[in-house]
Amino acid sequence: LQAEGEAFLSQIDGDEYRATWIASDGSVLYDSISDSSSMENHLEREEIAEALESGYGESSRYSETMLEYRMCSAVRLEDGSVLRLSCEKYTISSLLLGMLQPISLVIGCAIAISLYLAYRLSRNIVSPLNTLNLNEPLGNDVYEELTPLLVRIDNQQKYLKLQQDEILRKQEEFRTAVANMNEGLVLLGKMGTIITMNPSASRILSLDERHVGCCIRDLGLDGAISGIVNDALGSRQSGVVLCIRGGYYELDASPIVTDGQLTGAVLLLFDVTDRVNSENMRREFTANVSHELKTPLHSISGYAELMSKGIARQEDMQGFSEKIYTEAGRLIRLVEDILHLSGLDDGGTGMEKIPVNLSEVCLSVISELMPAAELAGVSLDYECDDSRECVIEGIPQLIQGIVFNLCDNGIKYNRSGGKVSAHLTAAGSEVILKITDTGIGIPEEHLSRIFERFYRVDKSHSKAVGGTGLGLSIVKHAAKIHDAQLGVESVVGQGTAVSVSFPKGCILH
Ligand code: ADP
Repeated sequence: LQAEGEAFLSQIDGDEYRATWIASDGSVLYDSISDSSSMENHLEREEIAEALESGYGESSRYSETMLEYRMCSAVRLEDGSVLRLSCEKYTISSLLLGMLQPISLVIGCAIAISLYLAYRLSRNIVSPLNTLNLNEPLGNDVYEELTPLLVRIDNQQKYLKLQQDEILRKQEEFRTAVANMNEGLVLLGKMGTIITMNPSASRILSLDERHVGCCIRDLGLDGAISGIVNDALGSRQSGVVLCIRGGYYELDASPIVTDGQLTGAVLLLFDVTDRVNSENMRREFTANVSHELKTPLHSISGYAELMSKGIARQEDMQGFSEKIYTEAGRLIRLVEDILHLSGLDDGGTGMEKIPVNLSEVCLSVISELMPAAELAGVSLDYECDDSRECVIEGIPQLIQGIVFNLCDNGIKYNRSGGKVSAHLTAAGSEVILKITDTGIGIPEEHLSRIFERFYRVDKSHSKAVGGTGLGLSIVKHAAKIHDAQLGVESVVGQGTAVSVSFPKGCILH
């Protein structure tokens, strides 16, 4: 360089090294890459400053982008100028940057292949799941890994099936019990809507399936029903007795509370017709008994008073005594009939049913009544087709009561010269007793009532013949205890026929 100057520098192959010739003042005289005139002063550069000072200087640094690493060596020439050689090496970053494209390509391909494989794999996993037959989990042909899951599903299903069967069984039991209940049952929602009701409730309230879902208060039922439903929906139990189509029903409404919250109400309907009727009957009976007892007691006490105070004349004494005797007799009969009837009200409990031959009972009653019949001028006869066939299972005293009262009525409500016939027939599974008379008869409008307690067609006639008004009630009750059917036919002025059909008992030999 010292010999040839700048021409020497231009011969150097500048591909690998960069040569820069710097004057001692720092100005660039030559640069193998850049235009030297446009380059800045290099006096401050580390390697140049070092070379100027000590004859040789070195430095190395990264480029601003950090992608290149530049190493420089500088020597001071004899003329004071400095020659610097520098070369650039690629850094790891620049190497990596250079590999970015192929790496990206590889990663891209890897992602694409992964996506494809993931899609294939997931499809292979999912598609058998989507086509699983869950009704028969173990019948599916699937990959092995799915088997434990299917076994669990199968076990779960078996368990659920057991539970479902149990629930259905309980539901069916409840439904059957409720459907066969004589009592009516209505379940109401919070707002009073009918959720369900059993056939008895439908019958009693004259409702049907169409009313399910309707508010019970809007169905035009008795206002008292709305009242007790309102009470129940206000968390108060309430009840009422109503007369519906001639029957008496007790309605009880209770709130249904679940977890402290009112969820509805339940309405129960009980048929209390028998209870109410028997209460009414008992009340009526007590009033009648008091009345019936009072009349003879009053006359007894009246006559006795006259006699005891000496007011009665001597010639009336016998008449008064007879009246007292007659009234006392009536009282005794009345009390006996009342006792008899109250025994029958218990349904004949404590009395044992045994085979009874009706023919023998009829013969004994007729012989007992014969004097009374003769006194009344009435003939009494008895006829039986086959006495051995006329056996029933019964309570002897009650059977005797039936035959006695019917024959006695035949005599009492007859006329002189009349006739009373007792006729027994065994027909099929029945033994029929028919008492026919040729007496005064019963007007048709009274026929349905003569079996009521104290009912008399002609009160004065009944009293005159010593009737209590209880004879046919006793017959009715005794017949009921024996499952016997009663029938009456009567023509006023011609006579009456009362029949009693007993179920046949075992034949006595
Ligand atoms: P009583 O004790 O008055 O006879 P019953 O109960 O036996 O009472 O009969 C009720 C009523 O039925 C009688 O009062 C009578 O008016 C009428 N009666 C019953 N049996 C006959 C009959 N065979 N003929 C006409 N009337 C009868």
